[in-house]
Amino acid sequence: MEQSRRIAVAIDGPSGAGKSSIARAAARELGFVYVDTGAIYRTAACGMNRRGIAPEDAAAVEAALPETAVSIQYGADGLQRMYLNGEDVTDAIRLPEVSMLASRLSALPAVRAFLLDMQRDMAARHSVIMDGRDIGTVVLPGADVKIFLTASPEDRAMRRFRELEARGTPKDYGELLEEIRRRDDNDSRRAAAPLRPAADAVVLDTTGNTFEQSCRQILEIIRERIAL
Ligand code: C5P
Repeated sequence: MEQSRRIAVAIDGPSGAGKSSIARAAARELGFVYVDTGAIYRTAACGMNRRGIAPEDAAAVEAALPETAVSIQYGADGLQRMYLNGEDVTDAIRLPEVSMLASRLSALPAVRAFLLDMQRDMAARHSVIMDGRDIGTVVLPGADVKIFLTASPEDRAMRRFRELEARGTPKDYGELLEEIRRRDDNDSRRAAAPLRPAADAVVLDTTGNTFEQSCRQILEIIRERIAL
């Protein structure tokens, strides 16, 4: 059942710090809706890619935005599914090339503005744990709890390495580390909504943690702040 007061938890941080899996588990535990905003940027990137538009071509991107309908639905399993002009692209947006395209596309202010309302709307309608890069700073500056989840680049690359190996699509560790560094650089140096902790965010470094340890720590922070 939905609480009368909507609670918003913002979780920001760099790629591969375990944000999605930790935030999803915490949302399940608290009965909140989990919103993965990276998936929203990935869906827009997928749309541009299909039209052959490069993320750097700001004019072409802007012209195509009105015809890029991005929407979220939750399956019976409670998992977030992403739709691009009505087509389910939940799996397609996980392709490695979409990661870098999303990172490049998300540097455009027009893209960020276009995707802002749907993110705020989710928080207006539900108690949420929303993860991304600028949730505590831009999307939900009034969030009840703000957490900046980070880990060393090596730790994040190793996590991705194990994930891909388990999925049967292994990739070189050095290449993954390089990719993470490049995305960190893109995301934190851009002028529009750069990746940085909000002034009132709790910084949680998960380097060396097990998944369970990180989940426990994040739930402790949330419960302490909102007295759940
Ligand atoms: O979190 P994920 O890796 O799926 O995000 C893909 C890309 O989308 C990120 O590299 C980042 O550039 C962008 N993004 C963003 N703002 C958000 C969420 C994601 O700029 N709130």
